[in-house]
Amino acid sequence: MKEQVLIYEKSVAGRKGYSLPDTDRSDKEILAAIPEKFRRTEDAALPEIAEPEVMRHFVALSSKNHHIEKGFYPLGSCTMKYNPKLNDAAANSPEFQSRHPLAPCSVSQGNLELMWSLSECLKEISGFRGMSLQPVAGAQGEFCGLLIMRACHLKNGQMRHKIIIPDSAHGTNPASVTSVGYSTVHINSNEDGTISPEAVAEVMADDVAGMMMTNPNTLGLFEPHIAEIARIVHDGGGLMYMDGANLNANMGIFQPGDIGFDIMHFNLHKTFSTPHGGGGPGAGAVGVTAELEKFLPFPVLEQDADNKLFFNYDRPDSIGRLHTYFGNFANMVRAYAYIKTLGGKGLLRVSENAVLNANYLKELVREDYDLPHGQSCMHEFVISGNRQKKLGVKTSDISKRLLDFGVHAPTNYFPLIVPEAMMIEPTETETRETLDAFAEIMKKIAREAETDPENVTSAPHSTPVRRLDEIHAARTLDVNYIE
Ligand SMILES: *Cc1c(COP(=O)(O)O)cnc(C)c1O
Repeated sequence: MKEQVLIYEKSVAGRKGYSLPDTDRSDKEILAAIPEKFRRTEDAALPEIAEPEVMRHFVALSSKNHHIEKGFYPLGSCTMKYNPKLNDAAANSPEFQSRHPLAPCSVSQGNLELMWSLSECLKEISGFRGMSLQPVAGAQGEFCGLLIMRACHLKNGQMRHKIIIPDSAHGTNPASVTSVGYSTVHINSNEDGTISPEAVAEVMADDVAGMMMTNPNTLGLFEPHIAEIARIVHDGGGLMYMDGANLNANMGIFQPGDIGFDIMHFNLHKTFSTPHGGGGPGAGAVGVTAELEKFLPFPVLEQDADNKLFFNYDRPDSIGRLHTYFGNFANMVRAYAYIKTLGGKGLLRVSENAVLNANYLKELVREDYDLPHGQSCMHEFVISGNRQKKLGVKTSDISKRLLDFGVHAPTNYFPLIVPEAMMIEPTETETRETLDAFAEIMKKIAREAETDPENVTSAPHSTPVRRLDEIHAARTLDVNYIE
């Protein structure tokens, strides 16, 4: 029997999964109540299916896909940690959900207070004085931060248009630079995989608006020269941006706002456990120094003389609005619930355990895979599949084979400076048993590459679909069943 995958294939004419209450009105009377122009001329093309079958359909689909609730998800740089269900319960509570975003501030004080308190928490965690919760993705946070940088230079009458970015940076960094009309000055990382102050000094110039750094960087390494690099950039009239996507390694340990960074975005959907993946709603709050606060996107949440919160739109130096309403509010609730559940000490333990788990796993896999940067890592590390490639097994093959064991692939071929890169971020929410099991699987695949490479290059063998034409799928995306 052919498996019915689509809900339309399960449809049987006349079957119903609902019942409507009885009415004493005739069909004709009901119809007459609907204006002519809104009436259907033919039936909607909806599947006709019983309620239990609908439920089975979606549960079956959810288990075909990989997700954090199903298995280990060490996708480096993405911080695929467990999303506590408590956060969802808070975000779904009617007290939060029933507020209309355009309701007057006077009747929305509870929601505003949550936004205010979350901002205060993020300030304390990061060391920044000003905060905007408006951006809805890390990349939009970068865009926001760079617009602030541009606004600041223009206000000072400075025509600067270049941003220094190291070769280890996430692709969104140069993309954001281009989006604000700036251009990128690339610098190379040194042999240790970090940035040398000399490399920055060499390119710092009068037309450089600032520098973007990620800490820990995408190799999972803590940048040891931040203060000195910040001094060089500041002395040259530039500003320092930190890509804060990797903050999961830093909480309670290092405050970017105190060491020389002027602007930073958070990925609330990474560090603070709001669900992400599949392009779902994100939250990319941006923190700035006191000097840059006036450039934040408007409206800005402020307190009036009676301690009541209100949105201030009267911000003449603001870069403007970045999003409808005020950002993704439900994700703010989730992040706030997460922060308050753990408290300051708990957040410190999150980062400590994220770093411990990564170092533990690194030691377990380093025997079988090349490890170009072998020093202690932060919350993630990057191995290379170079050794396996010589045997005809590419990194993408290893990742496909992992699927057979119920594990999501690490981030592949990134960062670009490591050939055949696999970037592994276990996160703090995984047990030692899970890490041991993953290391065993990696060892097994390394042995297979030596003895039975075809089993790896033809993987996956156990998934609902095998190898997809990913380029075709991305270029000619079709998510409709009905033509
Ligand atoms: C995830 C990530 C980003 C982009 O964040 P999005 O929310 O996906 O837009 C930027 N930089 C780094 C280092 C990241 O890991």
